[in-house]
Amino acid sequence: MNFEMTDDQVEIQRMVRSFAEAKVAPAQEQMDRDHEFPAALWKEWSDLGMAGIMIPSEYGGSGIDSLTYVIAMEELATVSQTFALIWQVHVLVANMYADLGTPEQKERWLPIFARGEKLAAFCLTEPGAGSDAGGLRTKAVRDGNEGWIINGNKIFISNAGTPISDGMVVMATTGDRSDGRKAISCFIVPAATPGFTLGQSFTKMAWHGMDNRELVFEDCCVPADNMLGEEGRGLRQALGGLNLGRIVFGILGVAMIRACLEESLSYAKGRSQFGQPLSSFQLTQAKLADMATHAEAVRSFVHHVAWLHAQGRPCHKEAAMAKLIGTRLSTQAALDAFQIHGGYGFMHEFRVNRLHRESKILEIGEGTNEIQQLLIARELGC
Ligand SMILES: Cc1cc2nc3c(=O)[nH]c(=O)nc-3n(C[C@H](O)[C@H](O)[C@H](O)COP(=O)(O)OP(=O)(O)OC[C@H]3O[C@@H](n4cnc5c(N)ncnc54)[C@H](O)[C@@H]3O)c2cc1C
Repeated sequence: MNFEMTDDQVEIQRMVRSFAEAKVAPAQEQMDRDHEFPAALWKEWSDLGMAGIMIPSEYGGSGIDSLTYVIAMEELATVSQTFALIWQVHVLVANMYADLGTPEQKERWLPIFARGEKLAAFCLTEPGAGSDAGGLRTKAVRDGNEGWIINGNKIFISNAGTPISDGMVVMATTGDRSDGRKAISCFIVPAATPGFTLGQSFTKMAWHGMDNRELVFEDCCVPADNMLGEEGRGLRQALGGLNLGRIVFGILGVAMIRACLEESLSYAKGRSQFGQPLSSFQLTQAKLADMATHAEAVRSFVHHVAWLHAQGRPCHKEAAMAKLIGTRLSTQAALDAFQIHGGYGFMHEFRVNRLHRESKILEIGEGTNEIQQLLIARELGC
């Protein structure tokens, strides 16, 4: 068993930490103010090879493994959960292309995703189908042998409405399976496809700067070649991609706990009541000690699961566990950090306010924590 990071991992961790502190931290404040997608920052990030971090080098990517990606993600997300999430969705979708795409699909899309010229989106959730992803209503029907006509609506979709959004991966039903359930397939929908329009965007409590919106498909025709992966296996393919997404949500939780600890420790040392710094009170110390312990423990576990993923070993249950424990403990950390800040935590001027606003959604995105519990219980044989 080897707990040492490789030289490459240490180097990428150092590089991301310094980029995040120098460039991402000010951009995060800007995003909170103007709610705009940070196009210039995305370009700089992409120029470092990060947009294509896991894309194979033959398609212009950096070809880096899941564990190293997770190490980089922690450094970025400690500074900006928003920018980390924009990146996470892009990487998840690029991986789907790399794993499932035909040579032509990979040739067309992966190099532009690797350069960050286009931003990818994952379009599964619908107004009537959230946790119950199998309940999709968006339907694709054959248009002779020429292609498919898609009709339906998606909701909450990240990264779909920016000026560089393209190559959306859209899940739609394509018939019925022999067991009576719907057959679901994945389609590549270029942004300029007639019949595809952007719906309303949402006013969120956090993650300002990340685009989230409704998508509308009205007789949206795509060629037969735009099916990604096998017909009828789209849900399995989409959920397979979510294993890495769940591992990443585990590390986003670690990053959140780390940011809460940094902020709370410095505040508690600097603020005095009853003639003593808050950090000298044992009730405050207990909160800080829990944050430090949870960050260490969850990081070790998430790294282990990312390693399983990088080795190509099964990690369905472990990925769900990583998401569940990381995000549950990060919500607790954000509440405790708020508490340590007293009334100042209620004020937007304090970073801990943003951490608190960003924390809860981690328990919902990438499959809610209840869905992770159901999945783990099923793997236990329940
Ligand atoms: C900011 C943001 C970004 C998002 N980005 C994307 C994206 O890029 N692409 C995409 O496809 N989706 C995206 N989503 C959607 C996200 O994945 C869903 O919100 C999530 O899966 C939950 O679905 P829902 O919101 O419809 O809640 P529901 O499914 O309605 O669930 C509501 C509550 O009921 C609980 N529940 C549901 N079923 C069960 C059950 N069987 N047992 C116990 N409890 C249950 C849930 O855990 C939850 O607590 C995003 C959402 C948000 C808010």
